[in-house]
Amino acid sequence: MSQSIVPVLTPVAVEAPYSYAVPDGMTLSPGDVVVVPLGPRTVLGVVWDGEPDRIVRGKLRPVEAKLAGPAIAPAMRRFVEWIADYTLSPRGMVLRMMLRVPEAFGPQMPVIAVRLAGAPPERMTEARRRVLEVAGDGLAWSKTALARAAGVGVSVVEGLIQAGTLQCVALPPKPVVAPPEPDFAATALTQAQSGAAEALADAVAAGGFSVSLLEGVTGSGKTEVYFEAMSEALRRGRQVLVMVPEISLTAQFLARFEARFGTMPAEWHSGLTPKLRERTWRGVASGEVKAVAGARSALFLPFADLGLIVVDEEHDPAYKQEEGVIYSARDMAVVRGSLEGVPVVLSSATPSVESRANAERGRYRHLRLPDRYGARLPDIRAVDMRSDGPERGRFLSPPLVAAIAATIAGGEQALLFLNRRGYAPLTLCRACGFRFECPNCSAWLVEHRFRRQLACHHCGHAIPRPVNCPNCGAEDSLVPCGPGIERIAEEAAERFPDIRILMLSSDLIGSIAELRQRFTMIERGEVDLVVGTQLVAKGHNFPNLALVGVVDADVGLATGDPRAAERTFQLLQQVTGRAGRQRDGGRALIQTFDPDHPVIKAIVSGDREAFYAREMESRERQGLPPFGRLAAILVSARSQDEAASHAKALARAVPPADGVRVLGPAEAPLAVVRGRHRFRLLVKARRTFDLQGFLRAWFDAAPKPRGSVRMSVDVDPLSF
Ligand code: ADP
Ligand code: ZN
Repeated sequence: MSQSIVPVLTPVAVEAPYSYAVPDGMTLSPGDVVVVPLGPRTVLGVVWDGEPDRIVRGKLRPVEAKLAGPAIAPAMRRFVEWIADYTLSPRGMVLRMMLRVPEAFGPQMPVIAVRLAGAPPERMTEARRRVLEVAGDGLAWSKTALARAAGVGVSVVEGLIQAGTLQCVALPPKPVVAPPEPDFAATALTQAQSGAAEALADAVAAGGFSVSLLEGVTGSGKTEVYFEAMSEALRRGRQVLVMVPEISLTAQFLARFEARFGTMPAEWHSGLTPKLRERTWRGVASGEVKAVAGARSALFLPFADLGLIVVDEEHDPAYKQEEGVIYSARDMAVVRGSLEGVPVVLSSATPSVESRANAERGRYRHLRLPDRYGARLPDIRAVDMRSDGPERGRFLSPPLVAAIAATIAGGEQALLFLNRRGYAPLTLCRACGFRFECPNCSAWLVEHRFRRQLACHHCGHAIPRPVNCPNCGAEDSLVPCGPGIERIAEEAAERFPDIRILMLSSDLIGSIAELRQRFTMIERGEVDLVVGTQLVAKGHNFPNLALVGVVDADVGLATGDPRAAERTFQLLQQVTGRAGRQRDGGRALIQTFDPDHPVIKAIVSGDREAFYAREMESRERQGLPPFGRLAAILVSARSQDEAASHAKALARAVPPADGVRVLGPAEAPLAVVRGRHRFRLLVKARRTFDLQGFLRAWFDAAPKPRGSVRMSVDVDPLSF
């Protein structure tokens, strides 16, 4: 009889499963999680589908153990293969994202508690008497909690267990969250809202895969609408997943969910404690956790009975994972929906051009909410900095200063938005022209006045801000050029010495808890003026915020990136949409040197259709997504020579093919990062072209990276 062999995929950089022998008495099926030897280590692996590879060099090693936890379902195995094939990543690396909680696959450890068993101990002490008094309530206590409540050491409790007075009992694990109630506090929807809500609820009721694009202006009630779809899924006893771009910003979402469904959803992100991660993972796998709000990684949770996926703020660039397996969580959410056969809802005030195109082509259902709930959209105007700008060395124009003064005098809040951390993006010497540059990256050092440092935003390199020029020794010759939010806050404080100003950017916030606490301060009106980066542009609802000032609307437009227009449109729409959410009279002022730019005009006029039509037309003309396909190949190395020669060798190996062009190599936009020199090749193909097939054939034929050379592939790059 031939020995039984199984293919096992391991979470390392391998393409295919390895073969392992099945020990006598063990039965394994695809999806089972096992422990296998791999080189000198042992690792978790998953029994994969298909025939094992029977050509084995050396002796076949046996599977060491089969784990008791949940198996990896077929749809999840297909999901791993799909992502690996699409992104050209090794399957093992994708599997690794699914096995991030190794403890969850072992046997579940019961929670041990102690309870009074009856017989009093033979030897009674004062400490023992106190423990028995507390345990006299008949409840089960954890050993430490009981000891603490009685004010004694744990050894006293242990002594009483040995004496038989206290008894150990195994408790069922605590549920992660209480089950949400679908009809806890339903909202009465407007007509437009209920039209959209019914369409989504129908999709849930019908079951099966579908994608709906829920497009509604800021404050139109998109959240209320997709809550209805979630409620329908929950009523059917199924699980729901809501993806959010940045979990740090979701305190308000969690509170709204609780108000609507009577309990919080389970959260899933990298900040959970290992214990909570394990419990949540198991709860999702068993079906006990009904609702999850999570970041990108929530896509890899093993839902027992998923009924709906919602992707909130679907256009947000934070959905793109840029390291390791490079993928878009928005796009992979759609893939997961199709593999699970469940509806997917993409929600945004400013959908990506890709999703818009899919809606126009009829591949997605397009649901729209044209009006705000309970308030009009803010009045948005451009301030022409050529004619109405401030005096030299200042950044706030007279119209913006006047608007801030009026807003605060009226008891309302204002927000100044600039997407640049620190005090000044560049520092130079007035005497010799020296500029502070990062030694590891092709980037200027940014001054951070609070930390008294000049710092690189790419590698973290930082130096104390010197007094004299390090190049020519001149005294007091260093000047900051351009503003970051610290400089804007400084100018605002000079102009309005008596107001309460709060700065918000990621480098000024220590933790998620601190960020949530700042948001609460703003909500409570303990701040008059907020000066912030995109951290404040997203998602949050500040009821008393009446004025938004965009300090420099042109920053993002001048990058030369074909996606610059879309990004800027989305960001400006989001940030101006913070104004006047709760009542009429919201205003936004946009400082720009180019008020005739189509993006600025679209924002000021509110004509989103004009923007999308123009953008589609220009993408089509250039053969860019969604009318063509792109992949970016990044080659990096310790030395410029190494990187350049590998990139050139790659370019020489491009196989001949119709419908595709390979551009470059050229220096990447950031030519050096962390001491690594970077070159880029851009693959541009027709929409129907088999991009992955082409890339695979190319890389198979091309020389492999050697020495310090690394190569990464980004299919559907965000910036190009
Ligand atoms: P969006 O997600 O589109 O920005 P929200 O769902 O956050 O919009 O709604 C904006 C505000 O209006 C929220 O405070 C929300 O509770 C409120 N709101 C929206 N629709 C209704 C409704 N039908 N009844 C009561 N309040 C609503
Ligand atoms: Zn650097």
